[in-house]
Amino acid sequence: MGRFELPHSYFSMLQSLYSLLPMFGLIGHPTSLEHAQATADFLGFSEYSSMDLDFWCGAPPFIADEIKVTSVTGDQIEGRYVESCFIPEMLATRRMKAATRKILNAMAHAQKHGLNITALGGFSSIIFENFELSQIKQVRNMTLEFDRFTTGNTHTAYIIARQVEQASKQLGIDLGKATIAVCGATGDIGSAVCRWLNKKLDVAEILLVARNKERLEALQAELGRGKIMGLEEALPEADIVVWVASMPQGVQIDGDRLKKPCLMIDGGYPKNMGNKIQMDGVYVLNGGIVEHSLDIDWRIMETVDIPHRQLFACFAESMLLEFEKWYGSFSWGRNMITLEKMEMIGGASVKHGFKPLLLPL
Ligand code: NDP
Repeated sequence: MGRFELPHSYFSMLQSLYSLLPMFGLIGHPTSLEHAQATADFLGFSEYSSMDLDFWCGAPPFIADEIKVTSVTGDQIEGRYVESCFIPEMLATRRMKAATRKILNAMAHAQKHGLNITALGGFSSIIFENFELSQIKQVRNMTLEFDRFTTGNTHTAYIIARQVEQASKQLGIDLGKATIAVCGATGDIGSAVCRWLNKKLDVAEILLVARNKERLEALQAELGRGKIMGLEEALPEADIVVWVASMPQGVQIDGDRLKKPCLMIDGGYPKNMGNKIQMDGVYVLNGGIVEHSLDIDWRIMETVDIPHRQLFACFAESMLLEFEKWYGSFSWGRNMITLEKMEMIGGASVKHGFKPLLLPL
């Protein structure tokens, strides 16, 4: 008897059904040129692993991974990882046009692949906002539908706030007596974390660190508290430092100047802390990272040196929105994240089995 073969039309039908499946998306990028080269190698494009920044400026977006996620409720969803080929050095070397093109092209690519809700990871949303890309809706023949995208910042801010709460307990830091410095306080994530610290946790002192004085004063007025400080002044006073500044490269920290114990929650991508501090009493925690209770079927997180089951909270936000079928831009614009929305996405996070990453004590 001949081998049982399915007719070609059956596969076409499966394929079209498949493309109708609800799917989430993640737009990501490497942290540096070196990281881009290593990622190319990892993905099997070794011919690109020695290419320079100019090559990456011209590289188009592509689907770098297919993802399957299972919730602890038993629900399953699928997603796609869109590599934008943006590299933070493009900003440092003032290749702004290339940087903005990368983000818009990646968004068009996600939409073309029918992804319902896509997270703009790392610098993607920062570039989108800072360069006012909402004014550019047309990418070649595609009109971008912005309600298919979310920054993922509400979930990121919620997770960082919970990391402050839970990791401080691990170290025996009493928040009622603690000083918390937020570096990047006026940013989208930073301001939301400050709102949470102000209203939901009984924190003794909040130090507001950023460069633009007017925005700092506006945040201070909104919170009705908080000391505005430069980073150098703030670090020796802080029991906890939350790092959420949009720095293309991290700053070097002198561990001797820090309090002991000191909890450093680095939520930046790339990392805000440019050096690894290995010193008694200084505890560095990867900020804005969640751990899923179940295995996730994907490879791409191996390229960012994050252990199995861990992922960026902004990526998890698009998964949560897909699980809950909360389509639309859950997180959008700047400095509009409310405590209610943080609680809402936080509830979904717990329901589907995501937990804030804590210290490995
Ligand atoms: P925003 O652009 O909204 O805010 C950035 C903040 O950093 C502002 O307060 C800005 O103020 C401040 N800042 C920038 N440069 C410096 C500097 N050199 N020194 C002190 N403050 C500085 O960014 P987001 O809130 O969207 O993102 C913050 C960080 O979080 C980024 O690194 C981003 O990649 C990362 N991120 C992590 C995610 C995760 O899932 N873990 C998800 C999304 C983002 P000013 O310009 O006045 O100094």
